[in-house]
Amino acid sequence: MQSQDTIEQRIQQVHERIAAAARRAGRSLDDIALIAVTKTHPPERVAQAIEAGIYDVGENRVQEAQQKIIALQGRHDDHEVRWHLIGHLQRNKAKHVIRLFDMVHSLDSVRLAEVLNRHIADGGRDDDESRGLNPVPLPVLIQVNMSGEASKEGFDLPGGLENTDLLPRFFENVASMLTLPHIAIQGLMTIAPFVSDPETVRPVFQRLRVLRDALVQRFPEASWEHLSMGMTDDFEVAIEEGATFVRIGRAIMGERACAIKW
Ligand SMILES: *Cc1c(COP(=O)(O)O)cnc(C)c1O
Repeated sequence: MQSQDTIEQRIQQVHERIAAAARRAGRSLDDIALIAVTKTHPPERVAQAIEAGIYDVGENRVQEAQQKIIALQGRHDDHEVRWHLIGHLQRNKAKHVIRLFDMVHSLDSVRLAEVLNRHIADGGRDDDESRGLNPVPLPVLIQVNMSGEASKEGFDLPGGLENTDLLPRFFENVASMLTLPHIAIQGLMTIAPFVSDPETVRPVFQRLRVLRDALVQRFPEASWEHLSMGMTDDFEVAIEEGATFVRIGRAIMGERACAIKW
């Protein structure tokens, strides 16, 4: 990775690559948001990314994110920052998530959806709204495991729409989550398998888009506008296939430390 470059330069390079991929696909840049994934990096580095023009920050662990959100509170009042939870959420941490994060990309079970819904109903999402009868719903994306790898979180649906064995159950799960008034399902998220040639995972992204299109037909009451897909090694292919959020860690922040040291 271009480790001599500053965060600012790397963000610029990523923006250029996003723009080129969007151009190839005839897509508007307005429909593609860049999430800087800052897991394992200390608050100071996250602040640098925000000061270099990042508006969306992704973290995969609640506690780690909470420390950074608290550390950065009030630092960027002139610059809206949205926090995205992109990693598996344990139900016992759901209560914190509804106040800390602007969007959860990793909704991976009906139980979790129910727990989030109940916490929001009980307490609201921010202090101003908490006493109202209509707390602000939490935007969520349904995480789909398209590859069938056992290690991946998400609703299992390898092959996507073609998986006629698992599809009916998936649709039932979606239908039951759509009845929960305090979460707002806005689309799908997936993590492609790790491969050296990103072209190899193009079908994964295509299948997520095709699945989304089927959900639009079947459940028009939800928006389904978002496809959260694409990371450092494969984001250009994901954009060509319709990503509206790309989640990019290493290409912006540099290599991750194995352990969090700060
Ligand atoms: C870490 C992570 C990313 C970013 O990965 P990079 O390869 O560093 O870009 C994206 N999405 C999820 C869910 C992650 O956990």
